[in-house]
Amino acid sequence: MTNLFSLIDKLHQEQNLSGQELKVLIEGRDQKTAEYLYDKARQTAIATFGRGIYLRGLIEFTNYCRNDCLYCGLRKSNLNLERYRLSLSQILDCCALGHKLGFRTFVLQGGEDHYFDDERILQIISEIKSAYPDCALTLSLGEKNPKSYKLFYQAGADRYLLRHETRNESHYRFLHPKSMSLSHRLDCLKTLKDIGYQVGCGFMVGSPEQSVQALTEDLLFIKSFEPHMVGLGPFIPHQETPFRDYPSGSLELTLYLLSIVRLLLPKVLLPATTALGTIHPKGRELGILSGANVIMPNLSPVETRKKYALYDNKICVEDRPTDCHACLKTRLSSIGYEINVGRGDSPLVASSEIDGLLLAPLPINALLKERKGESL
Ligand code: SAH
Repeated sequence: MTNLFSLIDKLHQEQNLSGQELKVLIEGRDQKTAEYLYDKARQTAIATFGRGIYLRGLIEFTNYCRNDCLYCGLRKSNLNLERYRLSLSQILDCCALGHKLGFRTFVLQGGEDHYFDDERILQIISEIKSAYPDCALTLSLGEKNPKSYKLFYQAGADRYLLRHETRNESHYRFLHPKSMSLSHRLDCLKTLKDIGYQVGCGFMVGSPEQSVQALTEDLLFIKSFEPHMVGLGPFIPHQETPFRDYPSGSLELTLYLLSIVRLLLPKVLLPATTALGTIHPKGRELGILSGANVIMPNLSPVETRKKYALYDNKICVEDRPTDCHACLKTRLSSIGYEINVGRGDSPLVASSEIDGLLLAPLPINALLKERKGESL
């Protein structure tokens, strides 16, 4: 039998393992090997990022969605969800509060909502970037066409989160309706990277029918794609979805995979997700101790938070952003970490490139005109 400790050493030294080795590492895990792995991953994160944790202020600006992903509470077939959209001024209020609290990255996330066409998104991007030129803006708007992605980038968006969800074709089919495809998702990721975004992919841990083979394919994909960010959290069932009776993904496997990702990509930006904090009261702290270096607190208005129900029992839905911020500070210091108030760009992107971008955003009208002329 392969010694798991030596596999972990190899992963640590070479930042890579074969598919077969990754499989053995996942299947053979026990308490002792897990602790050894967490420790190596934690040391690796500290070597790159120190004990500072970057914060991203999450603004959940619409829960309308045209898609019908079987796991997600926002799916269009969920008729028991009260839908909402934030206005531009509500979004800017979230940013104002976030900026006051020290956030230097805002993440605009939503369902795939036709109401927010390119023009509206461009307006939001340009208002946020002109009011807060010192902040990074991350988009998480799902699948769009390459022209839209390019326009948003030119308007000043810096990063894009689009989890690939699973790299295994038949698993992808099990999780999604026929109208969606893995190949399109992967094309979108490639386009985003080619355009110049800092890009995040990722997947849920313990989603229905996820095999070790599928997890291995996810890890190999993440290694080869070299994203700047990886979003990885447990699947949690939502009662109004077809997956209501499946169990949540486990804390222990999520931490284990976070650590593997940290060792495969030592410089990746890796959040301890809200879903991880939902399945265990200390989930996010444990995530950090397993190699994560980012937390994404919610900046959405308290009135709409409950309605952005990707899954059941989401944490912090009653808290005001100011309280969340204070709570996180305490949680981080309890494990010997602190908030890093920087923008938290990927170390893979040269800071000169970022300085250039800070000056560069094009005005919306010019962008839309260019688009009409199809010159992009
Ligand atoms: N529409 C955007 C944002 C989706 S929500 C997009 O397509 O990218 C962000 C992420 O939440 C999803 O990518 C998915 O991985 C995760 N998610 C959705 N439902 C979930 C559930 N039931 N449990 C845990 N995570 C979930």
